[in-house]
Amino acid sequence: MELSQIEHLGIATPSLEAAIPYYENVLGLKCYAIEEVADQKVKTAFFKIGEVKLELLEPTCPESTIAKFIEKNGGRGGIHHIAFKTKDVAAALADAESKGVVLIDKAPRGGAEGLNIAFLHPKSTQSVLTEICENPNEK
Ligand code: ZN
Repeated sequence: MELSQIEHLGIATPSLEAAIPYYENVLGLKCYAIEEVADQKVKTAFFKIGEVKLELLEPTCPESTIAKFIEKNGGRGGIHHIAFKTKDVAAALADAESKGVVLIDKAPRGGAEGLNIAFLHPKSTQSVLTEICENPNEK
């Protein structure tokens, strides 16, 4: 597949309210957007550093995969996934599948910031939950 950059790192947190001051006051970044993604049962907060974003993820209900991640991690947050940018998520998925990668999403779906996204299963990605995303406005 053809990837152009790391689009963002996904970081789970039990509380955006508790986490955001660290990124703003210690790292000096600016939270430029907060968005709830109902489909993924998360509330997100975005920061940008260079061309790369940080996506903080707070679960909005106990069934959220982010809630389960935090529970497994002893109630703490942590790095949850890495997201790579491509021009064509569907093509990247087809390529990955042809190489035996297990897909979480068989087709692109809508993510935060209007991106089309899909996840590859960590059992096929060296244990790193991997997201592939494209910006439909850049097509
Ligand atoms: Zn993400």
